[in-house]
This record gives sequence, C-alpha cells and structure tokens, in this order.
Amino acid sequence: MERRNAWLTYTDAEEKEMEAVVKAYRHFLDKGKTERECVTQIVKEAEAAGYVSLEDKLAANGKIQAGDKIYTVGMKKIVALFHIGQEELENGMNILGAHIDSPRLDIKQNPLYEDSDLAYLDTHYYGGVKKYQWVALPLAMHGVVVKKDGTVVEVNIGEEEEDPVLYITDLLIHLAGKQLQKKAAEVIDGESLDILIGSRPLKDLPDEKKKEAVKENVLKILKEKYGVEEEDFLSAELEIVPAGKARECGLDRSMIAAYGQDDRVCAYTSLLALLEMEAPKRTSCCLLVDKEEIGSVGATGMQSRFFENSVAELLEGMGKYSELTLRRALRSSSMLSSDVSAGFDPAYAEAFEKKNAAFLGRGIVLNKFTGARGKSGSNDANAEYVAKVRAILDSHEIAFQTAELGKVDIGGGGTIAYIAALYGMEVIDSGVAVLSMHAPWEITSKADVYEAKKAYKAFLLDA
Ligand code: MN
Ligand code: MN
Repeated sequence: MERRNAWLTYTDAEEKEMEAVVKAYRHFLDKGKTERECVTQIVKEAEAAGYVSLEDKLAANGKIQAGDKIYTVGMKKIVALFHIGQEELENGMNILGAHIDSPRLDIKQNPLYEDSDLAYLDTHYYGGVKKYQWVALPLAMHGVVVKKDGTVVEVNIGEEEEDPVLYITDLLIHLAGKQLQKKAAEVIDGESLDILIGSRPLKDLPDEKKKEAVKENVLKILKEKYGVEEEDFLSAELEIVPAGKARECGLDRSMIAAYGQDDRVCAYTSLLALLEMEAPKRTSCCLLVDKEEIGSVGATGMQSRFFENSVAELLEGMGKYSELTLRRALRSSSMLSSDVSAGFDPAYAEAFEKKNAAFLGRGIVLNKFTGARGKSGSNDANAEYVAKVRAILDSHEIAFQTAELGKVDIGGGGTIAYIAALYGMEVIDSGVAVLSMHAPWEITSKADVYEAKKAYKAFLLDA
C-alpha cells in the first residue's frame, strides 16, 4: 500500500499554484512567531476576505444568517472563524482545527540579572524542547509588556537585518570533555537557558549602582525604546524564538525550513481553505487554538469553553439558541483536527515502522489515532468516518497517506482531537509531515503544504 509522491503528478499550473500557497505561508510564518502575532495576521487576512467580528455583528443588528462570515477572538490568542452555510447550524459544521502556539523559551517574571559584566534574561521553556538545540543560535524576542495603566507595548527584536539578536552561550569544545559525557537531556540544564542581552556598562553611575552597570544600561535602553521599567516584566509575555525568516530548503527548493511549523503549517493552510469557500452548504469553521504544546489548558486552550460559547452566540444571533440546539450543532459536526506528523527520517529509521510512517512529499497525513503506549490518551477515529474522509480526498484527487507516531512503545504524543470528541462529533487527526519536529528550525515539503490546503478545502466542501 505505498502512497504516491505528489511531486510526480503536478502540471506546471499546479506547481505555480503550489508556489503561491507556499509564498503566502512563508509570509505568515515570518509575521507570526507567537500565538498573538498569528491571531493578528489571521484577523487581517480574514477581514480582507470579508469577515467581520462577532462583536461588531452583534452590535450592528445581531442577526446572523447564511452567507455571513464571522470571526471571534479570545484574549488575543485563540480565534474561531465561521462561514455560515445554507443548512441549519443544528445539523452541524465542518470544522478545521489546529494550534498556533509553538515550543519556545518564555522570559521569567523577574528575569534580569548581571554576572561578570554580562547581563542576562532568565527563561522558562514552553512545550517540549531538546534544550541543547537552543544554544549558540541567533534568537529574537517577541511579545508584549503590559504596563500598570493597561498600555500594551509590543516588542519585536531580532528580525530585521539591522536589529541586534539575542543568544544563549554554549561551552567551548576545548573545555567540554566533561559536558560531552553527560546524557543529551542533561547537557544543557533548563535553568541555564539564560539569554545574553548586554555587556556594555553605563558610565558615571552613583557608587551603589556601579556593581550592576551593564544591567543599568539595559534598563536605560528598555526605558528609552519601550518606556518600560524593570517592574513591568512582572506583567509581560515575552517569548524567545529563533531569529530569521522562513527559508526554502534543498538545492531543488522543495522544502521549507522555518521555526514554528508545528502547527502553523496546518493552521495557515486551514485558514486559506476557509477563506476560499463560497456559499457553503454546511457552515464552515476554522478553529485555531493556543496552549496545545502544554496540554490545551487555560482560557485560550482547546479545553476552554471558548468554542462552545462562540457557537452559542451564533445560534442566538440566528434566533435559534437553546441548550439542546447547541449540543446538536456540536454533536453533528465533523472535524479535521490538524497537527503535524513525524516525517520518516532515514537518519533515525529505527524510531519508525516504515509501513505506518509519514513520508515527505506524499501528501496530507491521516492519523486514525495518536497517544502513547497502547493508544493511551488518543481519540481513535471511527472506521466509518475514516472511510468518509478518504473517499472525499480520493474524489478530489488529493495525495494522502496514513501514519502513526513512530514505532509502538517508542514514544507518542497528543493533539486537540480528543477534546473536540467530547461533544460526540466525528474527529480525525490529520496534518503535514515534519522533519526535526520541535527543533528551532523544522522542515516540511512544499508539496505537503499544498496538498494539505487542498484537502482542507475538499473537507469543507464535502464532509
Ligand atoms: Mn502540534
Ligand atoms: Mn508540538
């Protein structure tokens, strides 16, 4: 049951279309390196495609009807978009779900210190990272500092050619004999992922401040550039991410190397598919959530009631809200819960079972189940639903493959699928294969990005 390589099937026109999709995707990656930045981009593209915010809609006349394009944002980090269909909402929606948070290093609430004439920011990593991958790289800082009066100061340092970058040091090889004997998980300690941000002492300080002249200078710069004080770190969300733009990868330019492709590759292609919909039969929805990498918790994660509340508002706007209609609308929905798959990597072949692995270039991946050690924690999609989804993909001539995450008992992972399944809707995991998942730079195939976008469109049309 080998699956075909999508590249072998493309006409010139299709390759052109693929490049256009990938170009837009790269732009999205460059502009969206945090969940907040992603939401900003998503809203921008949605509004350009005629979407209006739920709040504006309700304020205008409150009536919601077929053909309406509506989005709603929670705490600037989670977003749901709906294109209202001809059919009753009670009969369910076709939902594309994905997440927009990615592994990174978060700045601590009390982060700034000086040691040996060097100034640092202390971090606490977010999500699953191999700590040794985050040293000796150019890094950027993205995020917000919120002042006591509520002013939100946006921070973005390290992305422009002229910007300085930030950095975490590693021990020189000459002195690393002992370090190299350590287990990989212990080579770099979580607490020592500290960001080097300065080495220039401020002159002419009073005696009591001379000891921390480099730190004082950093504070002076922060004050001048952003108007923030040291105490303002208490109410900041600053994320350290790899600096630099998404790049084409390979002499044949067939791949994308970029930070945060888990899971922005599924999020963005889902958004593109939704924005292309014209007068859908069933209501089309795209739900892009935060906090997946730390268990989908919190008000902006999939476990929150954000989505359910949004659907309740839609029903109210249609004059059809009741607890039962809401439950029926959710239960009767179909969802592609999209997240990245582990791409088969010949260099680490022993981690995979080749018949049930995802290969770069062979199209969108369906994962009937995820989980670990005996499918634990997995939403195991119904065979009937898998049949329906593969029939849709085949009828639209979309390249797809099926896979599971590595060999049995080697490891595992979870997604948001099991949470949507709580409503009794049909859900299957799907997504794009990635090499070096969760590394500062991850690799995808352009063909898979393109096939994913087409698959999502087909699903919205026919599920
Ligand atoms: Mn993911
Ligand atoms: Mn992940």
